[in-house]
Amino acid sequence: MWLSKRFKVAALLTSWAANALCSSSDVGFLSPHKNTTCYPKLNVEELAARLSPHAEIYEPGSDGFIEGTLRWSAYHAPTVSLVVVPRNEEDVAETIKFANEFKSPFFAVNTGHGTITSQRKMRRGIEIWLDELRTVDISEDGKTAVVGGGALTKTVAETLFAAGKQAVTGFCECVGLLGASLGGGLSILQGKHGLAIDQFVSLRTVLADGSITTIDEDSELFWAMKGAGHNFGIVVSATYKIHDVEHQNWAFTAFTYAGEAVEDIFQALNDNFRADQQPADVVIAVAFELLPQVDPENPVIIVLVIQEGKDALDPVFAEVFTNLNPLATQTEIMPFDKLPIVLYANLEAGPCQRVGLNYFRHPQSIKEYNVASQRELYELFTDTIRAVPALNGSQILIDHFPTQGVQAIASESAAYPHRDKNIYFAPTIAYMPDGPELDKEAMKFSSRIREIVHKGTGEDKRSAYVNYAFGDESLPELFGEPWRIERLRELKEKYDPYGRFNFYAPIE
Ligand SMILES: Cc1cc2nc3c(=O)[nH]c(=O)nc-3n(C[C@H](O)[C@H](O)[C@H](O)COP(=O)(O)OP(=O)(O)OC[C@H]3O[C@@H](n4cnc5c(N)ncnc54)[C@H](O)[C@@H]3O)c2cc1C
Repeated sequence: MWLSKRFKVAALLTSWAANALCSSSDVGFLSPHKNTTCYPKLNVEELAARLSPHAEIYEPGSDGFIEGTLRWSAYHAPTVSLVVVPRNEEDVAETIKFANEFKSPFFAVNTGHGTITSQRKMRRGIEIWLDELRTVDISEDGKTAVVGGGALTKTVAETLFAAGKQAVTGFCECVGLLGASLGGGLSILQGKHGLAIDQFVSLRTVLADGSITTIDEDSELFWAMKGAGHNFGIVVSATYKIHDVEHQNWAFTAFTYAGEAVEDIFQALNDNFRADQQPADVVIAVAFELLPQVDPENPVIIVLVIQEGKDALDPVFAEVFTNLNPLATQTEIMPFDKLPIVLYANLEAGPCQRVGLNYFRHPQSIKEYNVASQRELYELFTDTIRAVPALNGSQILIDHFPTQGVQAIASESAAYPHRDKNIYFAPTIAYMPDGPELDKEAMKFSSRIREIVHKGTGEDKRSAYVNYAFGDESLPELFGEPWRIERLRELKEKYDPYGRFNFYAPIE
C-alpha cells in the first residue's frame, strides 16, 4: 500500500522547491528563529539518504500522505508538508537532526487523536508518523513488555491478553498507548495498578537535538515524562510493567435514563461512589447524549458500569442504578480484550472514525458532583441541540474511575498533578465544520459546560487532564502546583531550549 521512499524522491524535490515559500502570516520555525516567516527549502534527497532502506517519505497528495495526516478532529489541526515514516530509532533521530539543520518544525504523530489547539502552531512541518513502530514484546519473566512508540491500545491489549497479561491501557482501541501515557494515561485498570505512567520502567527517547537516550528512574527527565512527556522527546519504545490477567471476564451494564433522573443519578453517584467508596474493580462512565431511537428530542443519560471478574454486577451496585428506574438496561459479560465493543470504543465504533468532524473539549477534573450543576448541564445540552441541531452529535462524557492504584503512588513522583481527582469531565463537542458561525456556537456551548462544572466545584482553580485539554488552559490547570511548573520549566530549558517539542501543551 505504501509508496516507496526511493520512488518518491524526484517528485518530492519539485514539490519542496515550490513549497520553500515566505509567508507574511504564519510563523515558521520556533525559537531561536521565532521571527522567521520563511519556510526552509529542504533537501529531501539528503533526508532519504540518511534514513534506513524501508523508511518512507510521503509528499502531499500521495496516498501515504493522506492516510498519515488524517486526524480524528479537523479542528485546529496541525499542517504538514512532509510525512516521514521511520522504521527504527535512528530514523527518528536522523529526521530530527535533519529538521533542525533545515530549521523545519517537526512533530510526532501516531493516530492523530490529539486535539489540543497548540498543535495548530505546527505549520508546514515534518510529521514523524510512528505507524511502523508498533511491536509489543513480552519479557521472558513476563513482568514487562517493550512497546513501540506507535503501538495502538488495541495491539497492546490484544497481544498481552493472548499471553495472559494486561497493561494499563485506555478505553479506546484506536488511541496510541504512548500518546495517552505521556499525559498520564487513564485506564479501567487504574484502580488496581495506577495510571499508565506508573507502569513506565524505561523510555527509549529521541531528544530535541536528535540524540537517543534511555530515560529511567535514574534520569531526571523520568519525572517529567510522566505527565508532561510530549514536551521533551519522541519515545520510540517504552518498557511497561505488565500484570497477570486475574479474571478473564468483566460484567457490563448500561443503564439509560430520561432527563428527569438527573438529580437522582448524580446524588446516587455521590452517595455510593465517592473516591473512598468506589471499589478498585468497578469503573463507571456517564454520557449525556441524544439517542433518537429512545427519544428524538431530549438527551438521555447513560450510565455504564463495569466490574472485573464477575458475570453480573454485584447486586449492591446494580441496585443503586436499577432503583432509579432506567428506561432501558443492557447487560453483557465480556472478556477484557473485547470490552471496547460494548464500551463503543473499538476500531469500528464512531469514536475511532476520522471523517472530517470537528471535535473539542473543555475538560475539568473534580472529586464530587454538584447535583444542581448537573441539572444545569442537562438543560444547557437540551437547549443547545434544539437551537443548533448541527451540534446534536455532541456528548458530555464523564469518566468516573477508581483511584486506589492511582493514589497508592506518591503525587510528587510524577509531573502528573491530579491524583486527588477521580471524576474527569470530557464534554466532547462534535460537528461537521460549516463556517465560523457554527464554530462560535460550538465554542460557546463547550466553554459554558466548563463554566458550569467549575462553578459547581466551588473551587477557585480549574483543573484539566492534559490529554483532554482544549488548549486555552493555564499551566497550573494542566500541571498543578508552582513547584511542578518551576521544575518542568527548568527541565524544558535544559532539554528543549529552542522549544522544538512545543506543539502539545507547551511548557513556556
Ligand atoms: C476517542 C478517544 C478516546 C480516548 N480514550 C482515552 C483513555 O481511555 N485514556 C486516556 O488517558 N486518554 C484517552 N484519550 C485521550 C488521548 O490520551 C489523547 O487524545 C492522546 O493525545 C492521543 O494520543 P495519540 O498518540 O493517539 O494521538 P496523536 O495525535 O498521534 O498524538 C497526540 C500527541 O502525543 C504525541 N505522541 C504520540 N506518540 C508519541 C510518542 N511515541 N512519543 C512522543 N510523543 C508522542 C504526539 O506528538 C502528539 O503531541 C482518548 C481520546 C480520544 C479521542
